[in-house]
Amino acid sequence: MGSSRRFHIRTYGCQMNQHDTEKVSNLLHHAGWRQAAEDADADLLLINTCSIREKAEHRLYSDLGLLRDWKSAASGRLVGVGGCVAQQEGDAILRRFPQVDFVFGTHNVRLVPELVAAAESGRRQVRREEVRDLSRFDLPERHPDWQGVTPGRAFVTVMEGCDMFCSFCIVPRTRGREISRPAAAIVAEAQELAARGVREITLLGQTVNAYGRHAVRRGHDDVGFAALLRRIAGIPGIERIRYTSPHPIFFDEDLCRAHGELENLCPHVHLPLQSGSDAVLARMRRRHDAEAYLRVVEALRHARPDVAITTDLIVGFPGESDADFRETLRVVDEVGFVDGYSFKYSPRPETVAAGDPDRVDPDVAQERLAALQERLRALTLAAHRARVGGRTQILIEGESRRGGQVMGRDPWHRVVNAATGAAPPQPGQVAPVRIVEATPHSLIGQLEVKETPEIADGRETEGCRPRGAGSPTGTFPL
Ligand code: SF4
Repeated sequence: MGSSRRFHIRTYGCQMNQHDTEKVSNLLHHAGWRQAAEDADADLLLINTCSIREKAEHRLYSDLGLLRDWKSAASGRLVGVGGCVAQQEGDAILRRFPQVDFVFGTHNVRLVPELVAAAESGRRQVRREEVRDLSRFDLPERHPDWQGVTPGRAFVTVMEGCDMFCSFCIVPRTRGREISRPAAAIVAEAQELAARGVREITLLGQTVNAYGRHAVRRGHDDVGFAALLRRIAGIPGIERIRYTSPHPIFFDEDLCRAHGELENLCPHVHLPLQSGSDAVLARMRRRHDAEAYLRVVEALRHARPDVAITTDLIVGFPGESDADFRETLRVVDEVGFVDGYSFKYSPRPETVAAGDPDRVDPDVAQERLAALQERLRALTLAAHRARVGGRTQILIEGESRRGGQVMGRDPWHRVVNAATGAAPPQPGQVAPVRIVEATPHSLIGQLEVKETPEIADGRETEGCRPRGAGSPTGTFPL
């Protein structure tokens, strides 16, 4: 097919999924396809699915129902389904939805151009075999016409899969066993991205700080996660490094120390807690208790006092009592999370917890969720209010939904909406901002353009620590 063919991808779920979407977009560009802004302009529609919660899975089925009309509205339109639900359900999707042309699992992203070509000649198929060798990481460099979703920022996969088997989590089944990518390939990709103007890199892995652990333990390699961070921190042009999602048990002294030593390692850690109750943590098979979690937080703050900690929490897990829930609230207050994602427990197929008969009444779970979210909102607002009057640097992502403003994130991963002057900075640029107002979801700032005319190339940015701002905010209520 000619180069005028266009694709659109709907992405659900985590950053790993978002990055898979980027990989598919890049592969399709190499195959001659171009991106369409929306479904109506596309010849190929891909849905990158998430199965972490039941609700996300249902969304796919409702999407596919609606896509029947989209497909029949023009000839030659194709539909593909990828991601975790595709990995889990495979053939069942193809059987149940005749409008779907192909299904690809989490290890088969590389096959998408081939699957599209087969679908164009009428061949429907499912590819979801597990790829256990390093070939799954072999992907082409960024196509010149494809700059990534957000200019200036990029994800880099460092490991995939998970060997932890938490009792509620479907990921080890949908993403397979843990496999780490060679450090040399990761560093080479980061160097290439830096050469193209990428300033912020987010290292991705399901348990990202477990990176390299199997090879290190067997004596095959000596690059653990902290050593990897140090290598990436040394790449010229990389001003910000983030990573997600770590597991509390893989924080060692070296990693905590890195937070105090590496200037371009952002002062933000998203550290899933899930529950503050030791009894629930044990049922979740998290392999740590609340005290161990708090020790990690303390070590991080010792290394980097202004670090912002955010988290994931589940309420209504089987067996969770009122006292267990109060423990969660206690730990939430003790840590003082700057933000958190919280959910009601949702049983997932083939997980240990799904078979636990000790269910929490859904109304009780709902009340707990409401109480927890209220607590988290109050913490976020307090953290934001404490920033007012301070200065920071934002990496511009685009126009804000608030008219006449740009939106970006600061090193603490806070969303900042900032009013602009006549020549607003472009996505991918770094700009200095003074915080003037706090809202529950974001900070409102004023760009300080006049004092730093060189914002166009971001040279005033000194790593993740805003130059001249002293203690960056020093202002989180930690
Ligand atoms: S560490 Fe637990 S929650 Fe995280 S991906 Fe692995 S099994 Fe799921």
